[in-house]
Amino acid sequence: MLTEADAVVIGAGALGLSAGYHLAKLGRRVAILDQFAPGSQTSPRAAGLFKLIQGDQARTRLAQLSIRTVTHFEAETGVSLPVTRSGSLMVARTPEHADLIYTEAQRSGGWGVALEMVDGGEARRLAPFLQPDGIRAACHTPADLYIEEPSSLLHAYLQAAELRGATMVPHTRVIGIRLQNGAVSGVVTSQGEIGTPVVIDAAGAWARRVGELATATVPVMPVRHQLLITEPIEGVEAEQAIVRLIDTAVYVRPARRGLMLGGFEADPLPFDVACQREDFSMDGVPLDSSVLRRLGATVEGNIPALRGAPVQEHRGGLFTMTPDGQLIVGPHPDIRGFWIATGCNGSGFSLSPGVGQVLAEWVVEGRPSIDLASCAPARFRAQSFDDQQLRAAGVWQYAHYYEPAAGRLTNL
Ligand SMILES: Cc1cc2nc3c(=O)[nH]c(=O)nc-3n(C[C@H](O)[C@H](O)[C@H](O)COP(=O)(O)OP(=O)(O)OC[C@H]3O[C@@H](n4cnc5c(N)ncnc54)[C@H](O)[C@@H]3O)c2cc1C
Repeated sequence: MLTEADAVVIGAGALGLSAGYHLAKLGRRVAILDQFAPGSQTSPRAAGLFKLIQGDQARTRLAQLSIRTVTHFEAETGVSLPVTRSGSLMVARTPEHADLIYTEAQRSGGWGVALEMVDGGEARRLAPFLQPDGIRAACHTPADLYIEEPSSLLHAYLQAAELRGATMVPHTRVIGIRLQNGAVSGVVTSQGEIGTPVVIDAAGAWARRVGELATATVPVMPVRHQLLITEPIEGVEAEQAIVRLIDTAVYVRPARRGLMLGGFEADPLPFDVACQREDFSMDGVPLDSSVLRRLGATVEGNIPALRGAPVQEHRGGLFTMTPDGQLIVGPHPDIRGFWIATGCNGSGFSLSPGVGQVLAEWVVEGRPSIDLASCAPARFRAQSFDDQQLRAAGVWQYAHYYEPAAGRLTNL
């Protein structure tokens, strides 16, 4: 195993692989470490949705950059990456949610997102599996897209990073972080030590634990999220639009000629990996199909093809929720050389191209090309969170995804 690197990335999920690729592209000798196989934990379980309507300007910029990156991936890296440019529909069935869509569409339009309000007939033309009865507002975002099999993005990053000279170190757990005079000097792993002045904590559901190795507080709470994919359904085609029914926090997209359904239950399961055995992996997250059955029942009137459709796959993993629903990206304010890329609150897969690029610029050039002040780890400097507070905040953020009262639309 190598003994020195300019930067060590802990975690080879979407965020770590993207950061590692971009650091290597900027000329850094990078090692990307993972305790398991690369790209094997939460990221390959994602729905693969990319979405331009975000809750604020920083995330909108990241989403714009991310969509540009995945649609130009082969030209930039030489590695092919299939994406499906389906566009998406954000749909409201209550007056409050319709108001929320109008507000968000106006704000996002102001940040350069191309979108249009459409009527029920047009919504059905874009997504023929959608029955528009009772729809009060629908916003079409033509540039939204999805990646059919999320693992293809991870394989593409991996290949692109290795082509740029990054070193992948799989099946190697980081068990310590060396500090000298308040600065990072290396990592201790299950296979030996690597000296480095820069560590990036991209450890997903384990990010808080990895932070503790460097005496850093990384306030994230993992919360379970699940989806299902049906067997093929007649008439469903890949290019039909992604549909989000925001009053019930459910998303549906074409998948493998059937439909994918996922959503946000009001009573989610927080799942702190710190309470699990050391060898815990995402395979150990308990799945509960009754959650998806309940969510499915809330949209079957508008998407009748879901009723009784046989399920081909049911999968789930852990979101990393933060107390304020924002990403945690940037340098730790007190530990020099300790950087964080986590806290995606459910949008880490789609924002990973932008987050990885901007973080790498920040590390190498001293500043990011997108202002990420709202995501900076320093905002939590004066706060401490016990397990119970983090759990309560994570559950609240998850359960209020598309919440008129909270006045925002976020993530998926
Ligand atoms: C069902 C589901 C659907 C989703 N759909 C979407 C979607 O459509 N769009 C979207 O944007 N997001 C989606 N998400 C969220 C998205 O998947 C996550 O935000 C994203 O994958 C997080 O990436 P990550 O790199 O932080 O985590 P991971 O992919 O989990 O990677 C973290 C890695 O760190 C490694 N690691 C941890 N500790 C150590 C250690 N001590 N030493 C070495 N390695 C370590 C782990 O082994 C792991 O491989 C979804 C999530 C789920 C569960």
